[in-house]
Amino acid sequence: MKKRPNILLIYTGGTIGMIKDSDTGALKNFNFNELLEYIPELNLLDCNISSKSFLKPIDSSNMKPSNWVEIGTIIEDNYKNYDGFVILHGSDTMSYTASALSFMLENLSKPVIFTGSQLPIGDLRTDAKENLITSIQIASLVEDNQPVVQEVGLYFEYKLFRANRTTKINAEHFEAFDSPDYPPLIISGVNLSVNYDFLLKTKTSKKLVVHKIFEPNILLLKLFPGINEKTINHILTTPNLKGIIFETYGSGNLTDEKWFLKAIKKVIDKNIPVINVTQCFGGSVDMSLYSTNKLYQNIGIVSGKDITTEAAITKLMFMLGQNISANVFKTKFETSLRGEMK
Ligand code: ASP
Repeated sequence: MKKRPNILLIYTGGTIGMIKDSDTGALKNFNFNELLEYIPELNLLDCNISSKSFLKPIDSSNMKPSNWVEIGTIIEDNYKNYDGFVILHGSDTMSYTASALSFMLENLSKPVIFTGSQLPIGDLRTDAKENLITSIQIASLVEDNQPVVQEVGLYFEYKLFRANRTTKINAEHFEAFDSPDYPPLIISGVNLSVNYDFLLKTKTSKKLVVHKIFEPNILLLKLFPGINEKTINHILTTPNLKGIIFETYGSGNLTDEKWFLKAIKKVIDKNIPVINVTQCFGGSVDMSLYSTNKLYQNIGIVSGKDITTEAAITKLMFMLGQNISANVFKTKFETSLRGEMK
């Protein structure tokens, strides 16, 4: 007989777990143990559902690396006993947390699905029910005795994406996320249509390793026309700086003004990695296209290729926590670890 999968819901906070206070109209966290009262349909799903909640659920704008580690530790502690995990998380920084978890969980061979909603669970027009129910169904999918999804995904408004390829694109529409450079892994219509060729395939025999060190002393800088030498020099000499991400133009273009090149070289010479990520929504950094970029390639700037800013930040924090030596850092960063870049 087919075994009913055991699914663990981990509630971290965000709109999905909120209800409107009937007196004040303000949103407040509801008791997650009462989830079934709000979504009795969960009883109809063909799986066993348990839940754990952050002691104090938080708005995702307050998420930080220690919270990522808290989620990773809950998964680690319950990994043996559950077939899949669904993380309920505020949508604002969901792509960051989900990307961080993808790097944290090495050799993951079970589904870890992040979801949330734009409207609270208690709202008449809520998107929370569909997002939660389908996320649980996806986490329960098994074929040939293997989970169909063996990676960290993000499910929102009828699409499951690879989490570390996503970005929040809209503060209002139900379709709040997109994955500009990688197709959806599953599309939910009348049936769940799985895009098998794009799923990560994990060697299930390897043991799960949970990496818990993230280096927070990094910077993200977005280039803009007129960016000024004094500001750049000031920022790049921030004490204890361990890594920098530049959001550059188009296919990874930076100004070739001498002072700028010199400032970047100074940082790289101190073995502080500088990552080049495009500020375009889609497409990739290609440092061989323009002669100006060759200058930066020659001094050792790291190409982020088609990585999202969210994945670049969390990958940089993760890799800096791994004590990787400076001479292989660039090659390692430019290599896909969890399907986050081409
Ligand atoms: N501010 C909320 C959060 O990210 C928004 C949401 O849940 O969608 O926690």
